[in-house]
Amino acid sequence: MNKLLIIFSFILLAACNPPSGKKSDSQDEANAQALSEIKVPVYAWMGGLNHASDDEISTSFKDLRGKGIIGLMYNGGHDPETYRRIGGIAKDAGLEFHAWIPTMLQRQNPQLPPDLYAVNGLGESAFDKPAYVDYYQFLCPGREEVYQFLAALYGSIADVEVVDGIHLDYIRYPDVILAEGLWEKYGLHMDREYPQFDYCYCDKCVKGFLEETGIDIRSVDDPSQVEAWKQYRCDLITKIVNRLAELVHAKDKEISAAVFPGPGSVARKIVRQEWDRWNLDAFYPMHYNDFYLKDTDWIGEVTLEGVTALDSRKPLYSGLFICPDPEGKKDEPDPENHGLVPGELEDAIGESMENGAAGVCLFTPGRMTEEHWKVLEQAIF
Ligand SMILES: [Zn+2]
Repeated sequence: MNKLLIIFSFILLAACNPPSGKKSDSQDEANAQALSEIKVPVYAWMGGLNHASDDEISTSFKDLRGKGIIGLMYNGGHDPETYRRIGGIAKDAGLEFHAWIPTMLQRQNPQLPPDLYAVNGLGESAFDKPAYVDYYQFLCPGREEVYQFLAALYGSIADVEVVDGIHLDYIRYPDVILAEGLWEKYGLHMDREYPQFDYCYCDKCVKGFLEETGIDIRSVDDPSQVEAWKQYRCDLITKIVNRLAELVHAKDKEISAAVFPGPGSVARKIVRQEWDRWNLDAFYPMHYNDFYLKDTDWIGEVTLEGVTALDSRKPLYSGLFICPDPEGKKDEPDPENHGLVPGELEDAIGESMENGAAGVCLFTPGRMTEEHWKVLEQAIF
């Protein structure tokens, strides 16, 4: 998810990050001292504090800062005022503050007529018949009105002074192939691309591709064999990202994105993200190994792949999926409750940094146990 099929409730879980008790000044000084010795920059994805009081948020943010987190990707909805209030508290706590807002995934909204939603290979709209789960309502990246909606949304939030950057998420198509670790949960065997998960076949996209290549994709028996059709759709996403980047940069703010691992090995194949062509300031690939039935060595492999694809032009932060219940992991059937247990977290950080990551990003601080924090402290200071 955010992250693959990350359920938004995870964002709410992040809110459960328990604020620690008040610290004394001497503890704050000790923390400030320790922070100057951080070896691994750590960011975190979180949300869920929109309704907390200023004091509660401040306590939580200072606690995270003391534990070595240097910046937040905060998911707080679409209202700039939310980011103004919470961002101000983050800055006071010494944290970088980025507004984390899904891009192509948009719930029903009076500003978004149903015909702006993506259409699958069976002609079904993601508006009223989304793939996999009810919230998978993706917009069509081929529609100018979609870009205009996103430009207004991100522009209004980039205008907030305390916002350091915009963090895109779900900047992609629905998964045409689901990560293998999720097949059982959704009762699917995704050995190839199936039309019900393949987007977008709306009139605009089909016509645009016909004009560019002379191919009527609706008349092709197996569109998954048409390389130009895959490229056409990667390009639609790339164009939106690069237009948004121009807009955000013109406001002197940063822009980054949560992306799938790769880009070649996973992201391009399953969600049509060619993110090495995106003009962003930083990349946060979600190296959620359990979703792909992989161990922490794989985190090193995909980190190296990403860093190599970016040619070290921009920093890559390795996104790490934390297991909220390490004791119960082996009996937990739902892969979305899996993730790195404390010992694996240490390996994952090591694999990421040895292979060229600029740091890591945690999903989420609210899923971290005491043992995870101890491991993190040893790894980063
Ligand atoms: Zn379309």
